[in-house]
Amino acid sequence: MNSSAATGEPPDAIHIVIKLYVCLLLAGFAFVPAYLIGYLYVFQDPTLIFENHTFHIIAITAATLEGLFVTYVTWCCYQSSGDPLLRWMTLGFLGFVMIYALHGAFTGLAHSHLWLFLLYGPASRLVMAILLLIGMLSYHQPPDAAAQRTKLRPWLTWIGLFLLVNLAVALVANSQVAGHPAVRLALEGGALFFSAVNVAVLLLRRFRSPLMVIFAISVTAFALSSLAFILGRPWNHMWWLAHAIFAAGFFLLSYGVAQAFLSTRSFSKIYSQGELMVRLAESMAYAENALQELQRTNRELGHLAATDPLTGADNRRRFMERVDAEIDRAKRGDVPFSVLALDLDNFKSINDRFGHQVGDDILKRFVQECLESIRPYDGVARVGGEEFMILLPQTPLEGAHVIAERLRNTIATTSFNISQQRLTTVTVSIGVSQYGRDGDSIEDILHVADQRLYDAKHQGRNCVVTAIKTILQPQP
Ligand code: GH3
Ligand code: MG
Ligand code: MG
Repeated sequence: MNSSAATGEPPDAIHIVIKLYVCLLLAGFAFVPAYLIGYLYVFQDPTLIFENHTFHIIAITAATLEGLFVTYVTWCCYQSSGDPLLRWMTLGFLGFVMIYALHGAFTGLAHSHLWLFLLYGPASRLVMAILLLIGMLSYHQPPDAAAQRTKLRPWLTWIGLFLLVNLAVALVANSQVAGHPAVRLALEGGALFFSAVNVAVLLLRRFRSPLMVIFAISVTAFALSSLAFILGRPWNHMWWLAHAIFAAGFFLLSYGVAQAFLSTRSFSKIYSQGELMVRLAESMAYAENALQELQRTNRELGHLAATDPLTGADNRRRFMERVDAEIDRAKRGDVPFSVLALDLDNFKSINDRFGHQVGDDILKRFVQECLESIRPYDGVARVGGEEFMILLPQTPLEGAHVIAERLRNTIATTSFNISQQRLTTVTVSIGVSQYGRDGDSIEDILHVADQRLYDAKHQGRNCVVTAIKTILQPQP
């Protein structure tokens, strides 16, 4: 049984077929204008015209206003993301609007100055096609620096260039060559060529992001609209269809710009759903790892904060917390607990005789011996240089005395290494107290244990004291 069947996933072949189907659908949509062009070309009489100047002026005015609006939105996106493609798109739209507006403005001259009226259309599409191609080639280039985005000069230069194009078109339209079919064909064919190159490069570079798919379909529409303009004659239906195809491409591209505006403000940082899912999974795995690492570090930090670095025993703070918890438990009626206060005997002289390092080793070994002598849940804490405390939960004084005595004996009979050959013995004095019997607060029971430890020292060391010898107070 293969893995896809085991997980209920359709086989890989189905994935491939569905991807192919999506590509075909997109190509089918992109070529809808081509079917319309073919239909008109085959079935429509090209001499049929619809010459309505008012309608044309309204359409071009609407296109100019829409173009200005889209230019502004694209500019906003560029200002925010610095995406070079958006810079070129802004320029493409602006150039188109500035040149195309004159095509509308000269509608009234359609009869007296046909070329002045006509040539601004293909010129505007040519300029836009070139700028969109340059823009597409800049896709995935690093964003422009913030300072560069706000510079006014480059924009003014481009506006100047567009005005020069307008002037050049006016000069050509008024020249002898204006009526030559090659002029219009060169402009419109140029627009078709650059748009077609744009689409071809897009397909070759296999950009998958949703906005670049929209970009590709829009530029395909621009190419096809130029084809329709070439096939059409002024005011006939192919000519009007060409306008409609161009408008459709423009609307679609503006939809892409609006999507960019409403999301990342960039064309290159928009991801397909597939990419988003992969990125989401990566981010979640990263966050999960980071969380586990954090929890591990926290545990380590917590351990370090509660541990004596030399011996690994609990530190005083941790010991106090544990005693507090035991007091709470004892208050709830549990068997009372006891504490042992331990102090190594004559440790100063051990240091003096064998050195501080040996003293340290003995302290470590001492803690190991303690841990082996007591139960796992009893806690050993280092509360001073060679002073320790042991918590014995659920252990009354008598039981604590037995444990303390056993521990004292273990230490006294253990040989501690001084060097490879030399051994020494160490003894410990222990004071014991029990919660409840010797006090109800942490301070009281620790104080009593300390007092008994002090007493053990006085009794000659290496012994356990469970009750202070009563010193008779003078009677008043
Ligand atoms: P007593 O039996 O009365 O407890 O005598 P003592 O020498 O153990 O007591 P004192 O308080 O006079 O000396 C404690 C010594 O413990 C002094 C110090 O050098 C030693 N000491 C304290 N902390 C450390 C440590 O971390 N490492 C080593 N090697 N020695 C330590
Ligand atoms: Mg001491
Ligand atoms: Mg000591």
